[in-house]
Parts: sequence; structure tokens; C-alpha cells
Amino acid sequence: MSERVIPLVDQRSAASAAARHGLPAAVPAQPIAANGLLGDQLGRPLHDLRISVTDRCNFRCSYCMPKEVFDKDYPYLPHSSLLTFEEITRTARLFVAHGVRKIRLTGGEPLLRKNIEVLIEQLAALRTPDGAPLDITLTTNGSLLARKARALKAAGLQRVTVSLDGLDDTVFRSMNDVDFPVAEVLEGIAAAREAGLGQANGKATGGLKINMVVKRGTNDHEILPMARHFRGTGTVLRFIEFMDVGATNGWRMDEVLPSADVVKRIHAELPLVQLEPSAPGETAERWGYADAHGRHDVAAGEIGVISSVTQAFCRDCNRARLSTEGQLYLCLFASQGHDLRTLIRGGASDEDIASAIGLIWQGRNDRYSELRGSMPADTSPGARRIEMSYIGG
Ligand code: SAM
Ligand code: SF4
Ligand code: SF4
Repeated sequence: MSERVIPLVDQRSAASAAARHGLPAAVPAQPIAANGLLGDQLGRPLHDLRISVTDRCNFRCSYCMPKEVFDKDYPYLPHSSLLTFEEITRTARLFVAHGVRKIRLTGGEPLLRKNIEVLIEQLAALRTPDGAPLDITLTTNGSLLARKARALKAAGLQRVTVSLDGLDDTVFRSMNDVDFPVAEVLEGIAAAREAGLGQANGKATGGLKINMVVKRGTNDHEILPMARHFRGTGTVLRFIEFMDVGATNGWRMDEVLPSADVVKRIHAELPLVQLEPSAPGETAERWGYADAHGRHDVAAGEIGVISSVTQAFCRDCNRARLSTEGQLYLCLFASQGHDLRTLIRGGASDEDIASAIGLIWQGRNDRYSELRGSMPADTSPGARRIEMSYIGG
């Protein structure tokens, strides 16, 4: 096995440099109307906003926050850098005016942010221009879910996605790299179900999702046990290809197990039929468990595969990401954000901030996954890609 060598000092200064080097967000001379009709350079609408509420985490998944880099000396953001709940809600409201209908809270580990349910309450009170509530969800490692599921639901959270990379306790402990037992995450998932977070729009299924990042040779033997475990529970299990996001996870193509192989392996034991996408811009390809006649067995449920490496879905990418300190990122693989916090804290009006957001989105032409492999690596100072724990997954 080849060794992973990570130059620690480089990575740490890159992280703080990334925070410093945000592009100033300009207010255009002519206001850009927030009428939901915004399109980027490739005609993509703005629909989905991911908000990172902390850059800290209690896990050290090697594909995201490897221990060697994210140690006690890592320069995490000071509390004063973080957007407050009021700042996040105000910004989210302006995104909603531009067409955002779905908000996902993420991190780092979002449940580590103190009083996160207060933020959820504020976001749940937002309405679209035609008076509808937003689709609000959260991605968590599940470690604190058993304790918090009820409060999250009561605050207005509708759905939750729990990351779980295997059922085998030894595999799971080594994937999270802090020796966290799988049983506690499974308790968290059960608590989420009991609290009603497993329901979407009143339907019994679809609200609770499980994300499994698959690393070939590390946890790919957990694919089938995971599929068997969640089949028929109303919980959708989604397999994510290990991505080259950030600059510290020692990514190698030979550790990526293509989604097509995941489907093949499951299909060999539990036959699958392909399903239609549930929404435009949906990142997961859906596969339903088949009945004896080869039709979708709704009671058995479905799985999803997210082929971020082998099958780019940039064409439909309608997601913006707001970092913990208020930088707007247009792509998971971006190296620079657009600094909205300076505007927010500098007394800019709602109209000015909305116009600045409009201008930034109109200039967007990111499509990293489509271009991956065909681009020379950008090694200029400050070009290092931002970490997933900072920008949010
Ligand atoms: N801490 C929370 C969690 O783990 O669910 C939320 C933040 S985490 C960055 C969001 C998602 O990104 C998780 O589902 C995680 O598994 C996924 N992720 C992180 N690094 C990844 C990588 N290199 N490739 C693919 N998915 C990754
Ligand atoms: Fe933490 Fe989530 Fe990253 Fe794992 S994937 S280190 S749980 S932020
Ligand atoms: Fe969207 Fe960037 Fe991912 Fe393409 S690579 S799907 S543009 S986040």
C-alpha cells in the first residue's frame, strides 16, 4: 500500500489563506431584481442553498478531515468570524427571493453548533414569494442525533440525512477515526425516525436518507450489508463516490468504486430497476428494489447512487454554498469564495446584498466535474481547493 504524505504546514496556511482570499462581493450599479429568474452563464437556475454552520467536527473521516491535518493546532475559525443566526437567516431570505427553495444545513458537524435548533426555527419561518414554506434539511454524522432529534423536529426541520459508512463496528470506528461506535449512530437514526424526521410532506418515506461514502478496499464490502439493513425500512440509502474534494484527503482514482459497480453488486443479490429522477438537478440516480415481476416494489424502497466522479452532473447543478464565515461558493471544487460577510456587516441594504448575489450567480460558469482530468492542475498561490469541512458537503 502506498503511503499518504500530507505536508502539514502547507495545508494549514492554505486553509486560512482561503478564508482571507475571498473575492470582494460587488454591488452592481443597476440593481438585479430578485424575481426568481436568475440564470448563470450556463443557464442554470439558483435553487438549492447549502449553509455550513461550523468548520468543526467530532469525527476525523480520512476522506474529509484527516487527523494528521485537522489536529489541535489546526486554525479553525474564531467564533467572531462565524455568521450569526440572524445574519444567516437574513442572507437565506435574500437567496429565497432569488429562487432558492431548498436549504441544507451542513458543516463540519452542524449539530455541534450551539442552539442550532434556534437557527432552524428562524429558517422554518421563511416563506417563498408565493407563501410556501421552504424544504429544510440537514446533513449530520448522527453522533448527536439521539439527543437532538426531537428538538430539531420541533424547531421545524423536515428531513435529515445521516452519513454512515458501514455497519461493521470495526470498519465504522476506523472510518470516523475517533473510535466512535456505530451503535450510537444507529440509535440516532432510530431517534430521527421516532421524532418523525423520516416523513417527507406527510409521506412515510423519503425524509430520512443515509449517505455512505464508498472507498474501494476500505468499506466496499459493507455495501451489501448496508443495502440489506435499510431495504424495506422507508429509509433511502445513497452511495457516494469518494471525491477529490479539498486538498488534504490523499484522493486516488483507484480508491473510487464507480456507482455502476455498486449497482451491479446489489443487483446481483437484490434485483433493481431504474427510477425516474424525483426533481430537476437531483444529484442521485435512483434505483428501486424490484418485485418478482421486475417492477418497482415500493414497500422494499429504493437506493440512490451519486456519481460525482464517474458521471458529472454539473449541467443541472443549481446549488450555491454559503461558508461558515459568509463566503459564497459556486462549486464544491472552487478555490475562492465571494465575500458576502463584508457587505452584511458593512451596513449594505437587502437590495444591495441581493443584487450582489445576483451578479455573482450570473457570472458563474463552474463545472469542475465535467472538466476533471482535462484541466491542468492550478498550482498558483491561493488556488488550492477549499476543504469540504469548511464549505459544507
Ligand atoms: N458532518 C456531516 C456529515 O458527515 O454528514 C456533514 C458535513 S459532511 C462534509 C457532508 C457529506 O460529505 C457527508 O455525507 C460526507 O460523507 C460527505 N463527504 C465528505 N468528504 C467526502 C469525499 N471526499 N467524497 C465524498 N463525499 C464526502
Ligand atoms: Fe466530520 Fe462529516 Fe467530514 Fe466526517 S464527513 S469528518 S463527520 S464533517
Ligand atoms: Fe456543481 Fe461543481 Fe459539483 Fe459540478 S463540480 S456538480 S458545478 S458543485
